[in-house]
Amino acid sequence: MPLAAIIPAAKADVEVREMPAAPMEPGSVLLDTLFSEVCGTDVHLQQGRLEGVPYPLLPGHVSVGRVKQVADNGGKSPVRDVDGNLVSVGDVVTFLDVHETCGHCWYCLVARTSTRCPSRKVYGITYGADDGMLGGWCEEVYLKPGVKIIPLPKTLKPERLIAGGCALPTAIHAIDRAEIRLGDCVAVQGSGPVGLNAAILARLSGAQKVILLDTRENRLAVGKGLGIDETICLESSDKDHAADQVRALTGGRGVDVTIECTGAPPAVPAGMQMTRDGGRYVIVGHYTDGGTIPLNPHVDINRKHLEVRGCWGSDFSHFYRMVHVLDRFGDEVPGGGWDQIVSRTFGLGEMNEALAAVESGSLVKALVQPNA
Ligand SMILES: [Zn+2]
Ligand SMILES: [Zn+2]
Repeated sequence: MPLAAIIPAAKADVEVREMPAAPMEPGSVLLDTLFSEVCGTDVHLQQGRLEGVPYPLLPGHVSVGRVKQVADNGGKSPVRDVDGNLVSVGDVVTFLDVHETCGHCWYCLVARTSTRCPSRKVYGITYGADDGMLGGWCEEVYLKPGVKIIPLPKTLKPERLIAGGCALPTAIHAIDRAEIRLGDCVAVQGSGPVGLNAAILARLSGAQKVILLDTRENRLAVGKGLGIDETICLESSDKDHAADQVRALTGGRGVDVTIECTGAPPAVPAGMQMTRDGGRYVIVGHYTDGGTIPLNPHVDINRKHLEVRGCWGSDFSHFYRMVHVLDRFGDEVPGGGWDQIVSRTFGLGEMNEALAAVESGSLVKALVQPNA
C-alpha cells in the first residue's frame, strides 16, 4: 500500500498512513511521485486557517511524477497531455492542481476569473485523504480523468520544476497583473518563495531595478544570490520607514510597480507609500485572511492616483508557462537560479519538522521526496 503523510485534523500533527490503491477509472493516470513541496498554504492548512478543508487532508498541491500506469479510456481516445501527445508509462509530468473548473459558470465565462469558479477543486487543499491519493505528500498521485497533464521538456529537471513550485505560477499571475514595462523600477515586498519568484520574473520582464524587502536576512541573501539589484532588511520596528528607503533608491519618487508577497497587513499601506504617483500596487500575498489594517485613502490611493490590483491563485495559463519559463530561463538566472531557492528535501516521516521550518522562515523552500 502506498504511504502518505496526512494532516488528521486542524492543528493535529502529521501522521504517515497507508492509502488504498488508486481506483484507475477510465481516463485516469497514476504517478510515482518524484517531488512535492511544503508551501505557506500547507502551514495554514495544518493550523486550520482555511475554511471548508476536508480533513483528514493529504497535502501537496503542486507535484511532479513519473507515469506508472495509464488507465484504458473505455473505448474513447486515449489519455493525452495538454500538448496533444499520448501519455505513456515512464513520462515525467506535472499537472494542474486545480481541477474541475467548469467553463460554464458566470465566473468562467463572463468574469473570466476561473480561479473564482465555484466548481473548482484543488489537489491537496479541497480534496481530502478520503477522496484518494489526491495530494503530493504520497508515494503515488492519482490523476483523475480530466486532470490537465503537462509534460516536462527533457531539458527541465523535475527538481527545478518543484523549486519553482506553486509559488512560480502565482508569481507569473502577479507579473501579468503588474504589467511591468521595460525600464520600470519594481519593489517586491517579502522574499518567501512567491516574492523571490516575483523578483526573478520582474528582472526577466525588463525592470531596470528590482528592490526586495523582507525582515529575514537569510531569505534576502537568497535574493542577492539571484542577482536582485537591491535588498532592504527591515527590522520590525523599522517597517514605517520602508517607503523612505525605497524612495531613496528611486530619486525620491518611489517605484513604478510594487508587488506585495508578505501576507502581513501592515505591508499594504507601506507598499502603497513606496509606489510612485500614478503607479500600480499588486496584492498577492494575502491568500489567507491576515486581518485588517488602517490606511489613508486620500494620501495613499486617491491623491497619488494609485492603481491597486488583487491577484488570487493561478490558472492553467500560468501553470503551463511556468514549465516553459523554467526550461528557457532556468540557466540564465544568476547563482543557480531556482535551484538556490530550495533549502532542504524532506521524507514523508519528517513533515512535522518541515512544516515548523517553513512556518518559522528558517528555510526558504522545503521539498518533499516521498519515494526517497
Ligand atoms: Zn466555472
Ligand atoms: Zn502552495
